[in-house]
Amino acid sequence: MAFVLPPLPYAPDALAPHLSAETLALHHGKHHQSYVDKLNALIDDPSTTNHDLEAVILDAGDKALFNNAAQHWNHSFYWEGMTPGGGGGPSDAVADAIQRDFGSFDRFSEDLHSQASTHFGSGWAWLVHDGSKLRITTTHDADLPLLHSQKALLTIDVWEHAYYVDYRNQRPAYVTAFLDGLVNWAFVAKNLAEV
Ligand code: FE
Repeated sequence: MAFVLPPLPYAPDALAPHLSAETLALHHGKHHQSYVDKLNALIDDPSTTNHDLEAVILDAGDKALFNNAAQHWNHSFYWEGMTPGGGGGPSDAVADAIQRDFGSFDRFSEDLHSQASTHFGSGWAWLVHDGSKLRITTTHDADLPLLHSQKALLTIDVWEHAYYVDYRNQRPAYVTAFLDGLVNWAFVAKNLAEV
């Protein structure tokens, strides 16, 4: 069965105007598909599937295998972290954890916006649980919380391909749109409940 590109959890035009159908067609249909195709070409065992992805990432001895497997994981996670009509603020357990670990939701938002906007080069901004509390982190290229013994709760893709069609070089505007209009807080709550 090999690895398979998961379908978007919404219509390709459902995130407009924050992210256009053109961006999703390219990002999901071309970039993410390419990582899946390269991963399948590099994998030794053709019976390996999406179910085994984290083991492949953790066991990858080869940089190309790691990069394509991790990017498959990162993008699959990124799509789930957005929803039409998302953004705003969380409720219940997530709101309480943010209050506890960042002091306020505004401080959390400012910190995530700042780190996502200023991360140098290609990578990812994350909300993670580090074993004891919530933290904001960034990773370069395909690196991900799984390698750092952290539980991923939410991610923002800050590779240029995520925003260049819609925002050109204005990454902070993309991050603002993500936080204000796209975050799937129910997905964050589901991930936090697994900690
Ligand atoms: Fe991407």
